[in-house]
Amino acid sequence: MKQLTLSEYLINTYGEKIYKISLSSGCTCPNRDGTKGTSGCAFCLNGSGEFATRGDIDFQFEEAKAKISEKTKAKRFIAYFQSFSNTYGNVEELTKLYKKVALKEEVAILSIATRPDCINDDVIKTLKELSLIKPVWVELGLQTANIESARKLNLGYDKYDFIKAFNALKEIGVKVIAHVIFSLPDESEEDSLDTVRFLSELSPAIDGVKIQMLHVLKGTPLGDRYIEKPFRLYSLEEYGKLLKRALEILPESVVIHRITGDPPRKYLLAPLWTIDKKKTLNYLNKYTIGKGGK
Ligand code: SF4
Repeated sequence: MKQLTLSEYLINTYGEKIYKISLSSGCTCPNRDGTKGTSGCAFCLNGSGEFATRGDIDFQFEEAKAKISEKTKAKRFIAYFQSFSNTYGNVEELTKLYKKVALKEEVAILSIATRPDCINDDVIKTLKELSLIKPVWVELGLQTANIESARKLNLGYDKYDFIKAFNALKEIGVKVIAHVIFSLPDESEEDSLDTVRFLSELSPAIDGVKIQMLHVLKGTPLGDRYIEKPFRLYSLEEYGKLLKRALEILPESVVIHRITGDPPRKYLLAPLWTIDKKKTLNYLNKYTIGKGGK
């Protein structure tokens, strides 16, 4: 793989390992709370994020830091707000919360995940202010550049919303990381590669990409559809081959933040191979990537 993995990028840039701390901003999502008149993205169970403790932000931070520090010699962290749409809420309150975190000495990077339709002028102003304190990364959901597929998946946004948000974010100099899902129902391999081509052609260039295999989860509209009539999902080998082609398309400057996901075991209907992250990474590393990845 010609691109850097996230850990390689962090070591090259900061000279040390930087660990992610998952935090909760308390935000919800306009695609889940009824604002958009929908019941969420078809694959979404609970915000599509790793577990993050809720409550006082200092407490969350200290608790997560203590846990990581038990196992590692971590000194600096990426404060990572992943679940739900972390720019959806009272902007003044969010500004206070993110400032508090950005001002912590141990925080090297503030990383905020959100939807393209949750980037407005007030949010841009806040992110610009925050980026004067610490580097800000915005993880922007794209999932697919296929408009019909985005509609069927009930995303509530499409590639044009993504471009608008992306341009506004790049204008203030924050790094943008796109999230993409492979093996979506009704999408061919070429459709997935078209999404990757769409990202590769953005100007200025996208800073990072997160790619993952679709997780079909119980209790989601996609899960219901799968139970009624299972659709085909890629095997690990097929996913690996497609990932390899995708990485060949992406520019060298793009940092590869991840190539797998962490499905919640309890809810996973398919594909079951995604549960074994170690085996998946070993395989992808050996046959697809040619080096370590997260
Ligand atoms: S944008 Fe994220 S939190 Fe909102 S419905 Fe979609 S996957 Fe769930």
